[in-house]
Amino acid sequence: MQFVRYAEEEHDSTGSAESGSKVDETALQAREVWERFLEIIRTKVSEFKLNTYFKPIKPLSFRDNTLLVAVPSQAFFEMVISRFGEKILAAAAAVLGPEGRLFYEVDPTTVARGSGGIDDATFSDQIAESAGSAVIREFSPRTINQRTPSGTASGGTQACRLDPSYTFENFVRGKSNELAVAAAISIANSPAKQYNPLMIFGGVGLGKTHLIQAIANCLLSQRKVNLMYISSEQFTSNFVHSIQTKTVHEFERFYKSLDVLIVDDIQFFQGKESTQDSFFQIFNSLYHLNKQIVLSCDKPPAELDGLEKRLSSRFQWGLTVDIMPPDLETRIAILSKKCEVENILVDYDILEFVALSVKDNIRSLEGCLKSMAFDAFNSRCAVNMEMAKRAVRKYGKPSQAKQDFDIGDIIAITAKRFGVDQTLLRMKTKRQEVVTARHVAMFFAKEFTGFSLQTIGSHFGGRNHASVIHACKCIEKAISRDKEFAEKIQTLREDLLTT
Ligand code: ADP
Ligand code: MG
Repeated sequence: MQFVRYAEEEHDSTGSAESGSKVDETALQAREVWERFLEIIRTKVSEFKLNTYFKPIKPLSFRDNTLLVAVPSQAFFEMVISRFGEKILAAAAAVLGPEGRLFYEVDPTTVARGSGGIDDATFSDQIAESAGSAVIREFSPRTINQRTPSGTASGGTQACRLDPSYTFENFVRGKSNELAVAAAISIANSPAKQYNPLMIFGGVGLGKTHLIQAIANCLLSQRKVNLMYISSEQFTSNFVHSIQTKTVHEFERFYKSLDVLIVDDIQFFQGKESTQDSFFQIFNSLYHLNKQIVLSCDKPPAELDGLEKRLSSRFQWGLTVDIMPPDLETRIAILSKKCEVENILVDYDILEFVALSVKDNIRSLEGCLKSMAFDAFNSRCAVNMEMAKRAVRKYGKPSQAKQDFDIGDIIAITAKRFGVDQTLLRMKTKRQEVVTARHVAMFFAKEFTGFSLQTIGSHFGGRNHASVIHACKCIEKAISRDKEFAEKIQTLREDLLTT
């Protein structure tokens, strides 16, 4: 049994003057064959379904073991085949034999000739959408897929699940991700208008997946959209499957029919040449049809080894934005947000301690929170500092877990390096060289001790946590601008670590 593209020269359903009677004959035969087909279907589906989904299909002609039918719209065809694909295949094989072929053509007027018993609102919309676009398309169940990514697609491709909690509301914005968030929101509001493709890159656990799924969740909640969210690994596996089942054409056609394609972790395309070729075709087609493409990657695309140049350059045709590791305030805000979402009560000091200790992976921050919540649940008491320390030991890097520096030592060593009296660092003196040394000492106190910002501030003339944050920002800025200063800080860091 085979379903193939309708080709006019092969199968002329309208017929010419001299073949008129032949056409009538084939039309008659088509009706007979179709009746037999419906008899089989009738044993497998309810009368209601038969009337709703099969009666609007009209047999047109039958010749050389090939049946041509008309369907009211492409959407109708897809709906029918996605619901009853296997049954249709079996019934068609029974009626037409293994060598039989089934063609279909889209004819919007077919609906008027249909049963009239269809009142499904979605279906009417779909008909309205495609009315007036009578086209002839391939007839194969493998072309049909569930376009929402919330589950397993039928036919040849698997979608990835969206996490419904990955929304913009749950995503904390900070300096480290503000551009990426702005671009993502702009796409969710008006896809394919401004940034296409959008490429978001950044290290592991910094929120790429969350952000691109937020685009998907937001779009799907607002409107009916043909959207696919998929990881590059799943895409690859679908592609391989399509090769095995000789359905590459249908596979590509499916992706080319999307309005929005979101591919996560494209670094896994590296070295997979055939998959890249196929993705290249899909990318070009979507791009030229002005459909939105969103991609994520764990490094800048230009740095991907084993990715064809033509692909990596295309990936940057639109907007490329990075997500950096979040700063301390953003880390605290993310932890607070997670507590709110998960309904966990944790003191600010503890959150701050965790955020100070775990710096460059938000997944690890979350891991700490879960570990503390689990501890608290087991010991039936509120989350405390002991639990936080245990969690940090599990999730923080060894150097980050190092909590036994003495602030007094940090102040003394820093003051010496800057040539100022250490007691001045503990006072409110505003002389520039003292201010700089004090900022540096605060910066290292934050880096090397587990004390809260408030506690650190109290060692420097009773300053509050905001002053410590300000000090750290000044130093970070100076490090990024002034190479000499950066080297001085690095030497001091090494001094502190070896003293
Ligand atoms: P990536 O895909 O970059 O490896 P994820 O998107 O999987 O990272 O993020 C890891 C975890 O951190 C997720 O649970 C995500 O919700 C959370 N996360 C990351 N960034 C933020 C943020 N800015 N606000 C809230 N949660 C975040
Ligand atoms: Mg990810």
